[in-house]
Amino acid sequence: MARHVRVRTLSADDHVVVVGAGFAGWRFTEALRRDGFAGPITLIGDEHHAPYDRPPLSKNVLVGKWELDKTTLATPEHLEKSGATLRLGVAATGLDVAASTVHLADGSSVQGSWVVIATGTRARHLNYGADAQVHTIRSRDDVEALEAVLRGLGAGSTIAVIGGGFIGAEAATALRTRGFEPIVLEAAQRPLIGVLGPEVSLWLEGLATKAGIELRTSQRILDVKLVKQDLVVSFQDDVDLSARAVIVGAGAVPNVEWLATSGLEIDGGVVVDENLIATSTVAAIGDVASFSWRNVFGTERVRIEHWQVANDHAAHLAHVLVTGEASAQLLIPYFWSDQYGKKIQLLGHPRTSDHVEIVHGSVEDDQWMALYSRDGIVSGVVSLSQPRALMLSKVLIEERTSLEDALVRAPWLR
Ligand code: FAD
Repeated sequence: MARHVRVRTLSADDHVVVVGAGFAGWRFTEALRRDGFAGPITLIGDEHHAPYDRPPLSKNVLVGKWELDKTTLATPEHLEKSGATLRLGVAATGLDVAASTVHLADGSSVQGSWVVIATGTRARHLNYGADAQVHTIRSRDDVEALEAVLRGLGAGSTIAVIGGGFIGAEAATALRTRGFEPIVLEAAQRPLIGVLGPEVSLWLEGLATKAGIELRTSQRILDVKLVKQDLVVSFQDDVDLSARAVIVGAGAVPNVEWLATSGLEIDGGVVVDENLIATSTVAAIGDVASFSWRNVFGTERVRIEHWQVANDHAAHLAHVLVTGEASAQLLIPYFWSDQYGKKIQLLGHPRTSDHVEIVHGSVEDDQWMALYSRDGIVSGVVSLSQPRALMLSKVLIEERTSLEDALVRAPWLR
């Protein structure tokens, strides 16, 4: 069943301006063309690279399996086919919503009939004394800068990885594969406790050690300083750690500052409705969008930094703008992470306070699948190296399903 959305549908006379030439911006451009929009599209990006894919940066690229160019999504052929105008290396500095005009850092401006905000997030910096020497992994340039340092290091060099979350764990895994000695420094009692909850983080606890990676938890880091050739990490209650390189994976910050005077509602992201619409001519998609998410419990406002969500946003918004209709199908968030030689996958957007229980496999074997539930209703599915079981269980959150019923149906066994 399709619902009618109160937006003017696009005609070939419209000019769509997409700010942020990243994953969501590019996927949206592709989706507009696929859905039949023939008018002009301008894609504005502050990076010097054509749209590329970020997940491989901390996986295949860092491990040395892929050249950076392999991450490119908008190849010259794709770009030509899309007919989109790409303006790279120039940041948007302001948006005049009434005039539907984007102001750029080089003093120029671009006017469109629709402006789609897809500026994503940036890596959080922790402002250490040696911030300029501390690495993050968000962009191609970040990885190039890190590689330049890694190339000068011998096997067995100590690399401090601050943050044991998804990016930190993936980076440590890749570095270990390359013969370095990563030491993961996590502030919390256990990695991912604040994302997946206390039980799941407990089930994942031994993975780093089994992969031969040192993980230190409950770390209170005071500073990182450059001392001769080394970076010295100092702690509140531990001896200093000397490392040849430091990587920080401490979460991301939405790129919304350029919208400060736009009048748009900004609340930890660009606030948009269920169809990703902010005003009659402005929308936001991907990591930067704080959107109304309809799910089996009702509607809540969320901002989710998942590749699949950015992809679904792009397809959904294009469909709404081209047809004026939105599908009634629920968006099911999906996330994966390859770390310590295992694959963690998550469906849904469960809360850390949700009840969670393993329904398939076992922690001893490091192969399991668990269901999250809230008020007796399934709210998420999480698995460790059980991709098939997880995907078969998606039905449990596409429709409101009681935990009791889920256990009887057990779709993961099919
Ligand atoms: P981005 O891809 O960040 O694109 C935004 C673009 O806008 C950037 O190029 C940015 O520079 C540009 N921009 C910002 N401000 C401006 C401005 N003012 N003017 C012009 N341009 C601007 N997700 C998963 O689900 N699974 C994974 O395993 C996974 N691994 C990841 C690994 C890494 C290293 C990273 C960094 C992310 C990973 N993600 C993963 C998350 C996923 O990549 C993001 O959800 C996705 O890239 C979001 O797309 P986006 O277009 O919203 O943002």
